[in-house]
Amino acid sequence: MPRPILATVHAAALGHNLSRVRSSVPDARIWAVVKANAYGHGIERVFDALRSADGFALLDLAEAQRLRALDWRGPILLLEGCFELRDLELCSRLGLWHTVHCDEQIDMLATHKTQLPHRVFLKMNSGMNRLGFTPGRYRAAWTRLNALPQVEEISLMTHFSDADGPKGIAAQVQAFEAVTHDLPGERTLSNSAAALRHVAEMGEKSDWVRPGIAVYGSAPDYPQRSAADWGLQPTLTLASKIIGLQQLQAGDTVGYGSSFTAEGPLRIGVVACGYADGYPRHCTTGTPVLVNGVRCRMVGRVSMDMITVDLTPVSEAGMGSDVVLWGRCASGVVLPIDEIAQSAGTVAYELMCALAQRVPVVAAE
Ligand SMILES: *Cc1c(COP(=O)(O)O)cnc(C)c1O
Repeated sequence: MPRPILATVHAAALGHNLSRVRSSVPDARIWAVVKANAYGHGIERVFDALRSADGFALLDLAEAQRLRALDWRGPILLLEGCFELRDLELCSRLGLWHTVHCDEQIDMLATHKTQLPHRVFLKMNSGMNRLGFTPGRYRAAWTRLNALPQVEEISLMTHFSDADGPKGIAAQVQAFEAVTHDLPGERTLSNSAAALRHVAEMGEKSDWVRPGIAVYGSAPDYPQRSAADWGLQPTLTLASKIIGLQQLQAGDTVGYGSSFTAEGPLRIGVVACGYADGYPRHCTTGTPVLVNGVRCRMVGRVSMDMITVDLTPVSEAGMGSDVVLWGRCASGVVLPIDEIAQSAGTVAYELMCALAQRVPVVAAE
C-alpha cells in the first residue's frame, strides 16, 4: 500500500470561486491567474473548472504552451512579459499577449520579425516599485510602443501593493489615472483583494481583473476576513492517516527537541505528513488538524515525514483514522488553509505552491 498521504483538487470549488469573483465584478472580464502551476494545483487539473474565465494569466512560457496544448484558444497573458527575443517568437506562434514593463522589452519588440502584430500590456509602476514604468516615464514608453509595427494594440496595466491591507489602493489608482486618463486601450488593475474589497473604488476602471488566490479558495485579507466570509470554498485538500499511536504520561515529551511535554496522560496520533510533503515546519504546538473530521491540535515539532497530534477530542480515533491537514474532509468539515499558513507565519499562497512533488494529487468534484 502506498503511504497514505494524498492531495485532492476540488473542481467544483474552483468553479464556484471563479463565479464568486465574477459576481463581485460583473462587468469586468476575468484573467484566471494560473502561474506557478495554478498555485500548485496543476494547470491540467484546474483547466476544465476554470475554462469559463475570459483568459488565463501566467508568466512561464512553458505553462502557456501547456494551456495551448489543452486546446485553449482564448487569451493568455504573460504577466512578466518576455525575457529574451526567442520568447517573442513563441508569442507570435501561440498568440500570447504580453506585459511590457521595461525599455529592454520594447527594444526586443522593435527587432522582432512578425507578420502578426502583438497585443501588449504596458505596465505602470504606480507605487509597488517592482515591475513597470514610473508615471513620469509611462507616456514615453506608450508613444514608443505605439510607433512600432510589431504592436497592434496597447492595454494599460498596474498592480496593487496594498489591496489587502489598511493602506488600500487609492494612491495607486490616482497615480495610474493621472497619467492614463486620455490614453486609449483596455485597463487591468485588480488582483483578488482589489476585486473583492475595492469594488466601489474601482468602478469602471478595470476592464480585466486578475484574481489568483481567491479562485483557489483563500481569503486575500485573512485574518481580517476568512474564506467563508467571502463565500470562497477550499480547492485543495491535503489528507493523510494516523500510522502510529503513543500513550504519554505526565512529563513525557514528543518529537525532536522535546518541545512539547504532556501535563498528564495523553494519547498521541502520529500522522504520515511532514515538511517533505509541504506541510510547513514552522507550525508549532496548537496548529489545528482534523482527525475523523474533529478539530485537534498538533503538538511538538513537524518532522520530515510525520507530525504528532493530541487525540483528546476524538477518543475513538486510532490506527488508520482519517486526517485532514487543510481543506475539506469527507463529512464536509473545513479546515481553512489560511489558518495553517497563519500558524506557520506565512500565507496560503506559499503553502499551495510548496506542495511537494512526492504527494500524489487527484482531481475530484
Ligand atoms: C500573481 C498576480 C496576480 C494574482 O494575485 P492574487 O493576489 O493571487 O489575486 C495578479 N496580478 C499579477 C501581476 C500577479 O503577478
